[in-house]
Amino acid sequence: MALNTGRFLRINLTDRKTTTESVPESVAADFIGGRGYGIRYLYDELAPGVDPLGEQNKLLMLSGPLAGTSAIAVSRWMACTLSPLTGGYARSVCGADFGAWLRFVDYDFLIIEGKADKPVYIHLTEDGCQILDAGEIWGKDTKKTQAWLGEQHGKKTRTACIGPAGEKLVRYAAIVSDRRTAGRCGTGAVMGSKNLKAVSITASRAVHLGDPETYNKLAKEQAKMIQENDGYKHHKEWGTTTTQDITNDLGIYPTSNFRYGKLVDDKKVYGAVYREMRTGNMGCYACPARCGKVHTVTSGPYAGAHSEGPEYESIWAFTGSIDSSDIEASIAADELCDDLGLDTISTGVSIGFAYELFEKGLISTSDTDGLELRFGDPAPMVDLVKKIGMREGIGDQLAEGTMRAAASIGQGTDLFAIHVKGLELPAYEPRGAKTQGYNYATASIGASHCYGYSGQDIFGSPIPKPTDRFAEDYPDVVIFNQNGTAFKETGINCTFSGTWGWTQTHLAPMLAAARGMEKLNDNAHLDTVGDRIINLERLFNLREGKGRNDDYLPKRLRTEPLMTRGAAGEGQMVSRHDEFLDNYYELRGWSKEGVPLPEKLKELGIGD
Ligand code: SF4
Repeated sequence: MALNTGRFLRINLTDRKTTTESVPESVAADFIGGRGYGIRYLYDELAPGVDPLGEQNKLLMLSGPLAGTSAIAVSRWMACTLSPLTGGYARSVCGADFGAWLRFVDYDFLIIEGKADKPVYIHLTEDGCQILDAGEIWGKDTKKTQAWLGEQHGKKTRTACIGPAGEKLVRYAAIVSDRRTAGRCGTGAVMGSKNLKAVSITASRAVHLGDPETYNKLAKEQAKMIQENDGYKHHKEWGTTTTQDITNDLGIYPTSNFRYGKLVDDKKVYGAVYREMRTGNMGCYACPARCGKVHTVTSGPYAGAHSEGPEYESIWAFTGSIDSSDIEASIAADELCDDLGLDTISTGVSIGFAYELFEKGLISTSDTDGLELRFGDPAPMVDLVKKIGMREGIGDQLAEGTMRAAASIGQGTDLFAIHVKGLELPAYEPRGAKTQGYNYATASIGASHCYGYSGQDIFGSPIPKPTDRFAEDYPDVVIFNQNGTAFKETGINCTFSGTWGWTQTHLAPMLAAARGMEKLNDNAHLDTVGDRIINLERLFNLREGKGRNDDYLPKRLRTEPLMTRGAAGEGQMVSRHDEFLDNYYELRGWSKEGVPLPEKLKELGIGD
């Protein structure tokens, strides 16, 4: 078994220098890879207080130790940086093939520094790294950008790029690879701020593993086990396109800018209705689930719209936010977001915010270029997506995110800005799914559904124990979900794989064989990894001036009762927030202010 801690490439765009470095064994043992490497290097290398859109910020693009192998759902990749949306730690996960391709050129990750003096793209091959002129593709959407790079470098090329939104520094611009996005926290704006249009990789398929023989045997067993699992089979058939059937029924489908928990016409957006418009499946490297469901609109005002998606979050972002059940419009808006390079969640919530301002008379048609923003009407929504992506008219203000937009408008509009730490809330209403809500509140990146997804509240998962979704008594479950996700994202494993009976016990020997480190086959050791990552993320945020005051759900959810249109949960509110935070911090080994205590850091080996 050969030690394989991974290499990374440091690329400085200012002076165009590149260096290859290896990850020390101690870092590999404690952080494994992926998200673990991301926070370790970001924490160590980024000076506190830099401008997220300035030359000093760094962008890390990371794959994991299992990427590029034949195992299922392990080739995801992520971007880590200082977020221009939240001013804190950012991690944003993406799919398609890019993570595998990074491993094919024998890098676990890239650290991108500095700023190019004109638009460029990075091109990687087995022979090295070039920084090339991107003048031809600057201004182009993500589809055209990727097609152009494919023409330049051939079929064995995969790309992660930004669209116009990233170039124009929309604070929630995404990085797009194929039709998948690293959507959250504005990682695309960080790329844009560096004049970096794309990273493309041309490579043949081969990865280095510590113990290939053992690994390949385990990967075969993993693939067989997963493909026999019923949860996997359902996910393969539907992706997440039926989740809205469940969440509307539970009264947790945030509607009309988080006032209701159910659409007026919820059945019109059910998975079976999207199924009628499905024209294909897409997915990530070596994953036969191909859970990205492709939809095409064939008639009506959005005829021709064609999107890999929308998946659940994007279905909701373009229906729930504005109380519309027009699925054709949701497909058109989703396609536009992918083309422009926008996070669908923050885009949808920012649009819902604008609709409510219009309803309340706080903005008018003179602010919206004549658009009448009325809940239930999706037409202006599609126009607003374009305006945000291009920073045109009111889109320029909405491109700042709801926190900044409310601060600049004033007049009490912070009540309508639905975010945590500046990151807009996803598609589960916290007043009717409180363990999920407290995951949003405490997540180091802000309101993220997948940072520590509460399958207990939403699907009745009994592990580690069932929850009462209206109760505010489960800080232990929030921590269990968050630590487990952080550990799996060292892989970088797809979040869905955890629901297919594939557990840490199965994963451990694969990590050990990939890294050539027997220590990673020790479950007691692995149990600490997620906790270590989250504590280091917390220290990063504290250093950026964030603390307890940033761990609160939006004011609306704490002061206004939920309306559910007949579903359970009518009148629910978040009412014991302080008590929850006290209990959560205590269980985490943090002070009342949310600062990790010295003994906790010592226990995790990050006391330095
Ligand atoms: S389940 Fe879907 S998102 Fe996850 S790896 Fe497979 S194709 Fe990608």
